[in-house]
Amino acid sequence: MIVVKVGGSLGIDYDAVCSDLASIVKTGRKVILVHGGSAETNRISEQLGKPPRMVTSVSGYESRYTDRETLEIFEMVYCGKMNKGIVEKLQRNGVNAVGLSGLDGRIWEGRRKAAITILEAGKKKVLRDDFTGKVEKVNLELIHLLLNGGFTPVLTPPAISYVGEAINVDGDRAAAMLASALKVEKLIILSNVPGLLRDVQDEGSLIPEIPFEQIEEFAAFAKGRMKKKVLGAVEAIREGVKEVVFADARRSLPITEALSGRGTVIR
Ligand code: ADP
Repeated sequence: MIVVKVGGSLGIDYDAVCSDLASIVKTGRKVILVHGGSAETNRISEQLGKPPRMVTSVSGYESRYTDRETLEIFEMVYCGKMNKGIVEKLQRNGVNAVGLSGLDGRIWEGRRKAAITILEAGKKKVLRDDFTGKVEKVNLELIHLLLNGGFTPVLTPPAISYVGEAINVDGDRAAAMLASALKVEKLIILSNVPGLLRDVQDEGSLIPEIPFEQIEEFAAFAKGRMKKKVLGAVEAIREGVKEVVFADARRSLPITEALSGRGTVIR
């Protein structure tokens, strides 16, 4: 069994991801797909007159400021347009996919942050109306039910708080939690870059392999949103996943290639 996370950044070829995934499922291997939707959410938010606001926490991680209105747009795009679009593509490729969010069956559960402290123009600011959090618990009942029934789960944020609120969570870290809860061998994280690059501007600077003992040193190359992917990889491996691969979702066989070691392999 493998967990594949496909991002939501520009350039990702979802047709390729879905047809490649179908060929793997047809060999009898079980796959759970987790997806994002950031670029599409940004585009639709602009169209709806509610432009995205990205904030940077004091510890340097970037996230989407998610007030209630943003959360509802986020759900429209992630759970609606993106999730159903991917399920449709998989179904067209002969995969009996079922699309769910972390809210459904409480698959991803966690704590909503009471407040987040961000840095804005060098100053600290506290935001209290933000619906974000972190997945702390994975409830696998529904996932096992689907897998045992021959279905392929397609999962997306949001998650659910302990008191039943939808919370925006990072998809890479949620996928990492899922991968470790399922004790899978491999977690593949696909995005619009070939893997972890030494220099973001230079795709030739791919780091092909990272021994887990040296992850801290390589993590320094990750900027912006790549930082959470590295964090997710660290969490997954610490919790028992054998291998995490960062690979390129702009290629025609992204998952097959990642399984054969193309990209950045961390183990
Ligand atoms: P997705 O939405 O596909 O999950 P993100 O946009 O969250 O992807 O993260 C991928 C982005 O991280 C890349 O498009 C790139 O701009 C950025 N990035 C920052 N540092 C690095 C790095 N060292 N190597 C690769 N990508 C990086």
